[in-house]
Amino acid sequence: MAPSLDRSRIWMEEGTVIFDAALAAADDELLNDATELDGWTGRHLLAHVAANADALRNLATWARTGTETPMYASPGQRDRDIEAGSTRPVGDLRDWYAASAAALRADLDALSPEQWSHPVRTAQGRTVAATEVPWLRAREVMVHAVDLGSGTTFADLPEGFLRDLLDDITVKRSGTADHPPLMVREADGPGTWPVAQPGPDAPQVSGALAQLAAYLAGRSDGSALATADGAPSPTLPRWL
Ligand code: ZN
Repeated sequence: MAPSLDRSRIWMEEGTVIFDAALAAADDELLNDATELDGWTGRHLLAHVAANADALRNLATWARTGTETPMYASPGQRDRDIEAGSTRPVGDLRDWYAASAAALRADLDALSPEQWSHPVRTAQGRTVAATEVPWLRAREVMVHAVDLGSGTTFADLPEGFLRDLLDDITVKRSGTADHPPLMVREADGPGTWPVAQPGPDAPQVSGALAQLAAYLAGRSDGSALATADGAPSPTLPRWL
């Protein structure tokens, strides 16, 4: 569930600034190291974020021309391109990221109102209006800025983005077969997010917005969160 187009475009812009800063803070040695993402070094992650911009440009082309242009030729092709990209020199990867991000922005800036409403298909197979593309990009640059491991945390991301992210993730999780029911509460604010239709006996977790987002995005085990009965936070299946 994406926020409005105007809001999503703000998050894409701000997320790109945040990713740029996280990347500038990551020296080449850090990018050679493993990340918290399974089997990926920083170079894999950077290749993925650059390739994601190119893939989302395909959706912008689809919206502009009406000719079906998928993000990736296939899931296997996506993974092979990330693997091949990860072997490129780090300087090339930095340049690829910067150029692809700028080109995506220019492509989106050029869309007319009718083109924005054109249906396109995400890598997960959902058919959405092209207006969802900036939100898809915002999620990538914001969350992967944390994954780079150069010091950016969920607490550094804009509060409004974290709320939109929690809305999106909890709706997605609620539609996942056999997802454990859960009630998510913001400890020091008004936010509540039911996941998978929780009954009165469902586990409840509460914490700061950034901690909740990290947990629901699969970036923390939730040990920083409080639970209603003092039990550990439930282990969650993958988000995406
Ligand atoms: Zn990603």
